[in-house]
Amino acid sequence: MRTITHVLVDSVPKVLAPHTLYVCPGYDLVVHLCLCGCATKVVTPLGPAEWSVRLEDDTISLTPSIGNGALACRSHYWITRSRVRWLPQITARQHAVAAARDDRDMAAHLARERVWWRRLTAPVRLRAQRWRARRAS
Ligand SMILES: [Zn+2]
Repeated sequence: MRTITHVLVDSVPKVLAPHTLYVCPGYDLVVHLCLCGCATKVVTPLGPAEWSVRLEDDTISLTPSIGNGALACRSHYWITRSRVRWLPQITARQHAVAAARDDRDMAAHLARERVWWRRLTAPVRLRAQRWRARRAS
């Protein structure tokens, strides 16, 4: 089984080495060249509704799996503890379903964020409302 290496970088280098994950915490993303060998740049944003990265014992894990349904190779793999586990190629239908799910996850995440933000600012807005009401009366 092929193992991959990882490096922490401040910004994504112009030239990427194969079988290397570039972890860029400042921009919340991980970038690598597609592991199938087609060498297309694959960008995985990190976030609650996106990918998460785990570094332990000098290994790297990325979850969920990386499905390159938008690429010609349609490769699909897991990276767990610096090892690559291949999954069957992504079909056009799977890609469409995954893209729709990603959109839903992101929309749900943004909705939660907004609710959280509203809750946090509620006392301030309430005070402003009362103040405006007092001035109006
Ligand atoms: Zn590929």
